[in-house]
Amino acid sequence: MDFAICTIDNKKYKAHEFQKLDASELANKRRFLQCQCGGSAFFRKASASGQAACFGARPHKEGCDFAAQESETVNGTLSEDEKEYFNSGKELILDLNFGTQNTKHVSDTDENDIDDKSKAGHHSSKNGKATAKSHRRLSTILRTLMIDENYFNNSNLKIELEGYSYLSKNLFKNFNKLTNEYVDDILNNRPNTRRAIWGMVSDAQYDKKNIESIWINTGGNNTVSILIDEKVSNSFMERFKIRELEDLSGRYVLAIGKLKKSKNNKIFSVVENISYVSIV
Ligand SMILES: [Zn+2]
Repeated sequence: MDFAICTIDNKKYKAHEFQKLDASELANKRRFLQCQCGGSAFFRKASASGQAACFGARPHKEGCDFAAQESETVNGTLSEDEKEYFNSGKELILDLNFGTQNTKHVSDTDENDIDDKSKAGHHSSKNGKATAKSHRRLSTILRTLMIDENYFNNSNLKIELEGYSYLSKNLFKNFNKLTNEYVDDILNNRPNTRRAIWGMVSDAQYDKKNIESIWINTGGNNTVSILIDEKVSNSFMERFKIRELEDLSGRYVLAIGKLKKSKNNKIFSVVENISYVSIV
């Protein structure tokens, strides 16, 4: 899109002007960008491969003139089968090992439900219907959340994660819902609980002290950041085919981890296992 508005100075910027700001001003202002429609916007620097600097927004508000110009906007609707599935109260198993070492559950092209019990050799049924546990990959879930997060927030899906059972509406949280009060409540009462946090990336940077680890930022200073631990940063870049961190601006991330707060009250979550993060 042609321009974006920075909410720090309320100025309209064209992408090539924005690119000329000095490094620290740019790093700060890029986390406070909006489209004219009010949708969260991102800035991507010109890439080494020759793509010009640009702005984008995800998603635009309905009726925004810029929405049609962008090929990367979130679109699509859930199929009736998917809707029925999310309303079914079934149990869902996160297929966290997909794309890492252990891919025995799901083949590359197969995102369908897999019936655990029939695989194990004894098919059980209730009212004539198979009681199946379903497997979903993180990337599939992230795409569903991007299309319509309400299906997770309103459904009774139970999600198994590391031997614990979560209700989907509790496990998945958009960045915007991680208020200070919400995080304090978790830290005080359920410090070992995990959350699968997701949303649009504003920018990403290597840690200033430990350049092996990567900070994925999601907006202004009061929003959550995700730390990709040095143990997994190389496999992270490889797995999601990220050539430079700039590629992450405007993409969506889903990361599972314990929520933490720094001394400066910055909320963050650490990814220590490559299976616990997805980028689309
Ligand atoms: Zn817009």
